[in-house]
Amino acid sequence: MMQSARFCAAPLLLSTALAPAMAQADDVTPSERVSSAVLVRKGPSTDTAILARLRPGDSASIVGEVPGWYEIELVDGTRGYVSKAWTVAVGDGGATLAGKRYRVHIIDVGTGLAVFVDGEGFALLYDAGSQDDLHDGDENRVIAYIRAVRPDLTRIDHLILSHPHKDHLQLMPDVFRRFEIGHVWESGRVNKTDGYCHFIKAAMAEPGVRYHDAIASNTTRTVTFSGSGCNGSVTVRQGMMMDAVPVALGAGAKMNFLYRDARNYADPNGNSVVVRLDLGIKRVLLAGDAEGGERELPAEPPQARSIEAKLLACCAADLKSDLLVVGHHGSLTSSRSAFLDAVGASIYAISSGPYPYKRARLPDTEIVSELERRGRVLRTDRSDLFRANDDTASCELNPRKIGPDADETPGGCDNILVTISGQRIEAEYSNLAD
Ligand SMILES: [Zn+2]
Ligand SMILES: [Zn+2]
Repeated sequence: MMQSARFCAAPLLLSTALAPAMAQADDVTPSERVSSAVLVRKGPSTDTAILARLRPGDSASIVGEVPGWYEIELVDGTRGYVSKAWTVAVGDGGATLAGKRYRVHIIDVGTGLAVFVDGEGFALLYDAGSQDDLHDGDENRVIAYIRAVRPDLTRIDHLILSHPHKDHLQLMPDVFRRFEIGHVWESGRVNKTDGYCHFIKAAMAEPGVRYHDAIASNTTRTVTFSGSGCNGSVTVRQGMMMDAVPVALGAGAKMNFLYRDARNYADPNGNSVVVRLDLGIKRVLLAGDAEGGERELPAEPPQARSIEAKLLACCAADLKSDLLVVGHHGSLTSSRSAFLDAVGASIYAISSGPYPYKRARLPDTEIVSELERRGRVLRTDRSDLFRANDDTASCELNPRKIGPDADETPGGCDNILVTISGQRIEAEYSNLAD
């Protein structure tokens, strides 16, 4: 669908994304005498704009109070005020698992992938790459985005590289410079490119980091690079092996490595680390560039040695998820129907941009159609220039985009925000500016 607006759509965050009916400590909910809704206002006054409505059964977190008003935060991060006359503060003495809140951000990096997960007690980044937006430092689009949504964040507890391709790792070395990194997880499959060289050097130089791969427990190996932009030998010290044991994240969350394989496949897509995040009672599947085989229609079964086939054979039940960050940017190489049946998600996020992969611009329309039959599809390329054939739908020159302003590169306007709160999972486009 084309947009008619010249710039990105206005923020779409003020939807129905309120917290679930289950109340936690320090929540507020409409009082019994409210029949329709309590207005959430921009300021502590009835003269200020209405931002949202809190209906009977809804609740929101209390973040402050002034005389006559509670300052609250909705599940999408919107802050506003509700009158104390129409609300009651409630608490159950401790947050329950079902009441935890997690935000999954699929950052619009142009052609590539970066997924930032902001949970209670942890922050996680799965990939940070781009084929067409290579600004670094504070202009790095991934860093700019994280700084916009979490200006207070200093540490990323888990950094996962799905596989060593530029569109998944190019923006990562900067992430080490900007944040303290707790754990690095990758398959261990080496790609002798400057990008991977910078990544592994940054990982090994990070103070206190714990590095994990799928090669063998407690190994030390030396990797030598001879690129023009990055070269020399790197000693890679592995800590705990990346294996099938779930990794505890923060409150009520864990990470499961469903596929990890360090073998030297001709195409590193075959090394894609497939991760399932259990965020409270909801599941998120991150497929990297995992494939089902050659470019085929989804109805074809996955080819025997593909990651999709291996996952169906070993652990189809483990694939069941609520959100799928779709494999290989929505390519016909991935998302076979049999695989999608096992995942059974209701929300599908596709990260893609205008840079062609072997002459194919992704996502493929057949994959988008297949996903749309199954649930809601959101994609990071909807404002990219090439789709509109003119600049009317472009955000390349939008002064309000995440990352470098008006930089004439794709990306930055169609970030996807999935918010999980107890039983609720809500997906919206998140068009913010840094
Ligand atoms: Zn890719
Ligand atoms: Zn790839």
